Amino acid sequence: MRVAVVGAGAVGVTAAHALAERDADVVLFEAGAVASGSSGRAAGVCYDAFADRVDAELADRSLARFRDLSGAGGFTFTDCPYVWLAREGDERHARAIREGVARMRDHDRAVSLLDAAALGERFPTLEADVAVAAVAEDAGYADPDAYTRAVAGLAERAGVDLRTRVPAGVREGPRVETHERSESFDAVLVAAGVHTRRVVESLAPLPVKPYRVQALTTTDGPETPMLYDATEGYYCRPHGDGLLVGDGTEPVEQHPDVWDREADDWFVAACTGYETRAFDASWPVERAWAGLCTATPDGHPLAGALPGVDGVFVATGWQGHGFMRAPATGERLAEQVLGGKGIPPFDPGRFDGDEPFEIVEGMAVEERLSKGE
Ligand SMILES: Cc1cc2nc3c(=O)[nH]c(=O)nc-3n(C[C@H](O)[C@H](O)[C@H](O)COP(=O)(O)OP(=O)(O)OC[C@H]3O[C@@H](n4cnc5c(N)ncnc54)[C@H](O)[C@@H]3O)c2cc1C
Repeated sequence: MRVAVVGAGAVGVTAAHALAERDADVVLFEAGAVASGSSGRAAGVCYDAFADRVDAELADRSLARFRDLSGAGGFTFTDCPYVWLAREGDERHARAIREGVARMRDHDRAVSLLDAAALGERFPTLEADVAVAAVAEDAGYADPDAYTRAVAGLAERAGVDLRTRVPAGVREGPRVETHERSESFDAVLVAAGVHTRRVVESLAPLPVKPYRVQALTTTDGPETPMLYDATEGYYCRPHGDGLLVGDGTEPVEQHPDVWDREADDWFVAACTGYETRAFDASWPVERAWAGLCTATPDGHPLAGALPGVDGVFVATGWQGHGFMRAPATGERLAEQVLGGKGIPPFDPGRFDGDEPFEIVEGMAVEERLSKGE
């Protein structure tokens, strides 16, 4: 079977590699360089602490793959617990954490609830003002850029024809059109991140919107597990001797090509303020940047067959959680392209494609899902 994959981000390279390992003849088209999209800008926080069963299974499989791949091709996965917490007085988030943990435990995630004293005993830097915290033991972090490059290398060694600096369009057939030629394939998987909607727009509408998020790293930092502070809306993880801190989410639709790649001054100042409140200290900024994520009407990805178009599949709408699930979603999409059943809850056919919707950022989506809404 001859398959085209459009987009060499974490999802596209994983799917291309999995297809080649299953004996498909694969061409991987990338408009820029490998990992030049969101995968080259992501924070690399990974965990299996999802309240939704399908997400939890995908994350579980992904963690296993990250650990298998760690140590080869410049890629390293570092095991590290993931803590999420609500501060005193924030009953709404405290309730969501308790309910989410109960649902995660229903499907066997290694997560537990901690009160402030138990949290402080285990993680002394995190104790202050905490109402309730949860810890996921099966978690860790990685450099998404390094993962994407490493798997692109594996894909090429497995026989994938990787063509960088070749923007591709998709037409019925399915056919892939580039500046130079038009080629027929048995199937095409479009994993073009924020550009996916545009790549398939002549075939079918896709309800996905890009939105901007920001992150920074510091030169030094405290000893800490990975952390999401639900009350304040910040996340952080160890990064070298310092921290990687993120938030700065703007729930506003962005043009996929025209957006500000630099971090805003307000964001850098806000992170410094947060570090001081959370850790009683702040540290010099090493690097600060922005990137795009993709939102969908229900917060679940659009990954599977493009409705009404034979042989075309899409993978986008990860709501800021695409890297941590990429090893499993890439594999499952490869199996679907080859005739398997895919990931039914992510089926793009659940939408007409042109419905209006508001952007809800990824962590807020998770909170909504953890309450079973
Ligand atoms: C600051 C930040 C922090 C994040 N933190 C996390 C995190 O901690 N954990 C997590 O799980 N997720 C995180 N994310 C989200 C994560 O980055 C994405 O969900 C994930 O990288 C999506 O991968 P992808 O392969 O779908 O898309 P991308 O990495 O965007 O890849 C798409 C590729 O398609 C290419 N392309 C586009 N159009 C065409 C075309 N016409 N022809 C050929 N190629 C094309 C692009 O150049 C790009 O390389 C974060 C994102 C940002 C911005």
